[in-house]
Amino acid sequence: PPDVEVLGRSSWTLLHAMAASYPERPSRGQQSDMLSFVKLFSKLYPCWVCAEDFQAYMGREAPRVGSRGELGMWLCGAHNEVNRKLSKPEFDCSKWEERWRTGWKD
Ligand code: FAD
Repeated sequence: PPDVEVLGRSSWTLLHAMAASYPERPSRGQQSDMLSFVKLFSKLYPCWVCAEDFQAYMGREAPRVGSRGELGMWLCGAHNEVNRKLSKPEFDCSKWEERWRTGWKD
């Protein structure tokens, strides 16, 4: 249904934007807040099949919250996992900062 798509697009925007503004050197408190957020997000995400698969992914690939770069790459991998499941093209994670933080140059 279309609302799963609208929800997904806006949710990825929120998640990637949060990673883009996450510190390069987060404090212990910031790391534990981010870890709690993604865990709760994966439980409360209002598309239950999506939430289940996302939680399973987090079981295989633990969230990496040690720095902005780590978090961005972890999220990019999580998003690519869903892209593969939906037969969407994979995103080149080396372009993550350009897409979500600094902006495209053109
Ligand atoms: P989106 O996938 O929403 O992507 C938006 C934009 O992000 C793209 O245009 C691109 O610029 C950029 N982007 C794409 N890939 C990456 C990446 N790897 N890293 C960084 N940026 C990227 N839908 C389902 O039907 N079934 C599911 O099980 C499902 N699970 C989901 C789980 C989660 C946690 C979330 C947040 C969404 C899930 N969705 C699921 C929704 C799905 O991922 C898409 O959001 C939705 O299909 C709309 O796709 P879209 O083509 O607009 O682009």
